[in-house]
Amino acid sequence: MTEFKFNDTQLSIMQDLEVDVDLNRLEVAIRNNSIEELDDEELLALLKVVNALYRSGFPVVEDSLYDLYREAFASKHPNHPYITSVESEVLSSGKTVALPQKMLSTDKAYSKEEIEKWLDRILKAAEELNIDTKAIEIRVTPKLDGYAAYDDGERLYTRGDGVKGQDVSRAFERGLKVAKNGERGLGAGEIVIDKAYFEANLSQFFENSRNIQAAIIAEKNVDERVLEAINDGACVFYPFALIDDWVGSHVDLIADFENIIDKIWNAVGYDVDGVILEATDSLIKEHMGATRKFHRWQIAFKINDEAAEVEVISVTPQTSRTGRVTPVAELVPTRISGATISRVTVHHYNMVKTNGVGPGAILQIVRSGLVIPKIEKVIKPADPQIPESCPSCQSHLIWESDHLVCPNKSDCPAQTENTLVHFFKTLGNNDGFGPKNIEKLANLGIRH
Ligand SMILES: [Zn+2]
Repeated sequence: MTEFKFNDTQLSIMQDLEVDVDLNRLEVAIRNNSIEELDDEELLALLKVVNALYRSGFPVVEDSLYDLYREAFASKHPNHPYITSVESEVLSSGKTVALPQKMLSTDKAYSKEEIEKWLDRILKAAEELNIDTKAIEIRVTPKLDGYAAYDDGERLYTRGDGVKGQDVSRAFERGLKVAKNGERGLGAGEIVIDKAYFEANLSQFFENSRNIQAAIIAEKNVDERVLEAINDGACVFYPFALIDDWVGSHVDLIADFENIIDKIWNAVGYDVDGVILEATDSLIKEHMGATRKFHRWQIAFKINDEAAEVEVISVTPQTSRTGRVTPVAELVPTRISGATISRVTVHHYNMVKTNGVGPGAILQIVRSGLVIPKIEKVIKPADPQIPESCPSCQSHLIWESDHLVCPNKSDCPAQTENTLVHFFKTLGNNDGFGPKNIEKLANLGIRH
């Protein structure tokens, strides 16, 4: 994260976007998690790039960050086509076909109050239709965080721009099954992968599950590990019609809101980033209709980032395999989003220096869901704690733009060990070559 640069794959995906801005500036914005210095054209380009990379299975920032970028742009240009149209699922190539049925985004709510307001609109619609409000049913389902697709029984389509998508029926030809041994033709759903299976069998080879979803529908040959995951039933197409749910009255929903949300949020073993609530009555659906972006009878409930103010105890330098020294802030242990956080990585030593990260500084730490916590800002600076020498080989550190670097390329134990760790990690499937044993090897003088 400290040394973010677009890689070749990302650059090739971006070529199709015809983005005409200085990519360096986008890299800096992503690296420093700051968009203040981008002009409108650059910000729009950043949105397009981040969205395309996310949809292609090579995400570069957290979803919550993308939402922030998007809001920043929308606040200035609410009527820009990028804001008013559904975000498109970009594939790097291939023709699009009309979807059998429009696939819209889902409106979002972040509090029980917002959900209650949405329920009021449903009750109002019921009254207008002379439907007994006691008969209104609300269905609550997990919001799967997979790859959106539509199965019409013959073909499988990506969501595309919501109106036109790509034919990715090849996923079924590769053996992809419908979840719960369901039938084909159940409409909209998501391609998902079992979280436990991913952790056990694929996490060494793929950075995240999104890369696998992209591989399943890829035009070229599929990775054999992905084919195996399909055969093992770990990757499935999950139609929304089949997903676990809670169905009940609006009164019961509000009376036991937290429990119902919690139960449904954790009902499946796939990545979930919220729950979806919807009215089931077809007359109400028809009456409420849709905006250009989403159905009014449906809403997603999500949980906002949780933030905490945390005091820094000290800043520990860690020399990476490239020689760059990463600052890690040791924190007064603090609970945030259900976990105790005691350290967080600072982007680079220039940030430590300019923002005053040192003993006694107060940081605002943000954690969205189960994602690694990040520094949002420095609330109270202190004297920055900056090392003079490499913590591993004691060489005098030098500045290279924003970074402190250990110049000892040939004989720095940390660089050697981390290079070996990286080598075995990239190779994968090598028992016995974890960091501990590699440290032993390095201590015995093994360098290459
Ligand atoms: Zn060193």
